[in-house]
Amino acid sequence: MHWLNLLTWITAGGAFTLLDFFALTSWRERERRAAQRAAILAIVLPLPYLATTLLPVSLQAIAQVVLLAIPAIGLLLALYPGHTPAPRMGLPSTRVDERDIIFARMRLSPGMPEYQAYYIMRPENKEIDDRLRARPGLLSPDALFYNPLTTPAADASFRVIESMRARVDGPVAKERIPVTAETITPFIKELTKYWGARDVGITELRDYHLYTHIGRGDGVYGAPITLNHKYAIAFTVEMSYEMVSAAPRTPAIMESAREYLEAARIALQLAEYIRLLGYPARAHIDGNYRVIAPLVAWDAGLGEIGRMGLLMTPDLGPRVRINVVTTDLPLVPDGRRPDPGMIDFCLRCRKCAENCPSKAIPLGDPIQEGEVVRWKINPEACYRYWATVGTDCAICMRVCPYSHPDTLAHNLVRMAIRRSELSRIAALAMDDFFYGRWPSPRIAHDWLPEQEQQSSSRRRGRTR
Ligand code: SF4
Ligand code: SF4
Repeated sequence: MHWLNLLTWITAGGAFTLLDFFALTSWRERERRAAQRAAILAIVLPLPYLATTLLPVSLQAIAQVVLLAIPAIGLLLALYPGHTPAPRMGLPSTRVDERDIIFARMRLSPGMPEYQAYYIMRPENKEIDDRLRARPGLLSPDALFYNPLTTPAADASFRVIESMRARVDGPVAKERIPVTAETITPFIKELTKYWGARDVGITELRDYHLYTHIGRGDGVYGAPITLNHKYAIAFTVEMSYEMVSAAPRTPAIMESAREYLEAARIALQLAEYIRLLGYPARAHIDGNYRVIAPLVAWDAGLGEIGRMGLLMTPDLGPRVRINVVTTDLPLVPDGRRPDPGMIDFCLRCRKCAENCPSKAIPLGDPIQEGEVVRWKINPEACYRYWATVGTDCAICMRVCPYSHPDTLAHNLVRMAIRRSELSRIAALAMDDFFYGRWPSPRIAHDWLPEQEQQSSSRRRGRTR
C-alpha cells in the first residue's frame, strides 16, 4: 500500500531529523556523550522502518503497521496525564533566625563577641562548627580546587558585592509620583527584565519571609528584624550553563559570584528607582538579606522548591540566582504557581541526591513541617564539602535534568514532564541514557586555565 510506505518513510525521516537535531544541539552544548548517542540512534532507529520496504509484499504491511504503532502509542501515552501529587499550598509556620544559617555561623571566629554570644545561645552547634572552621574554607588557597587565576576572579565579584551593601537602602524622594498598582506592576516587571533579570514575580511580604534576627550584612548582629514593607519583588538571573557544567571546579563559583553581583546590581538599581518615585524600598542582596529569598520567590510564582532545596524555575530549573526588593510601592501580587509535575519528577529522579559528594540531599520522600511538605538538606554536610574544595560545589545544579539550556529540544521535554506521568518516567530514563546517571564535569571554556581543563575522568576521581 502506497500510503503505508509513505508513512513509514516519513516516520523514519522524522526520527532521523529529530535525533540529528538533538545530536547537533548536544554538540553545541559540549555534551559529547549525548551527541554521540543521538547520532548513533539517528542511524540505527530508522533502519527497521527502511528494512520493511525490502520485505515481500505479504509481510510488508504487517511489519509497517507494527512499527508505526510503536511511536503512535508512545505519543498517546505521553499525552496521558496519569497521577500527579496535589499542589503544595501550605504556609511555613515558623521563622528562621539568620544567625542559625551556616553562612552566618561560618563568619564567627573565637575571640569575637558574636562567637561567644552565639554558642551560649546554641551550644549544640559549637563542636560541628569548630570542625568546619578547621577546614581550608571557601576560596582558600589551601582548598583542593584552589586556582591562582580563577579563585581570585570569584573573590573579586564577592568583594564588589560587599562594597554595595551600604546602598541597599537610602533616602526616599520627598515628592511621591502618583501611580496605580495596575499600571506600575507591568512596568516594574519589564524594567527589571530590561536591566537583566530573567523572570520577575511579586508577592505580599509575609512574616515567614523575614529572618527573625540579623546574622550577616549591615545592621547590629542579633538585632530583631522588623520590616514593614507591604510587597516583595523577587527576580532571577540565569547562571551560565557552560560554567556550571564544570562544577565543582572554580568556574562554578566564578559564575555564582558573577550572577550574585549581577543580581545585586539589578536589585540596587530597582530599589533606587522606586525610592526616586517616592516610595521606600530595600534591596536584599548576597550576604545582606532580611528575607529568605527562595521562599519569597516561591510565593511570587517563580518556581517550586525541589529536592535539593533550591528554587526550581520552569525553564532553567535551579540554574538561577535570586534577589529581592521589598517596598511599599503599590503592586499587584502574583500567586504561587504550583507545579505538581515538577515535584513528582523530583520524587522519582533523585539524581542530585545520588551525585551529592557529601550526601547532604535526602534520598527519601519529603517531610511535613507545619503545613509545608518539603525536602530538607543537611547544610553542615554541604558546607563541609565547600570548605574542603574551596568552591560552592554546585554538582547538584549541574546534574539536575531541569538545568539543561533553555532551547527548543529541552523545553519540549520540560513541557512533557509538566503534563504527563509517563513522560516524566521516559524523560528520566532518557536523561540517564544521554547524559549518564553520574555525569562527569565538563570543560567550561577553552580560555580558562589549563588546570580547569583536565580530563573529566581525572577530575571525577578527585571529587569523590
Ligand atoms: S536532580 Fe532531580 S531530584 Fe534533584 S532537584 Fe533536580 S529534578 Fe529534582
Ligand atoms: S552543593 Fe554539592 S555538597 Fe551541597 S548539596 Fe549540592 S551537591 Fe551536595
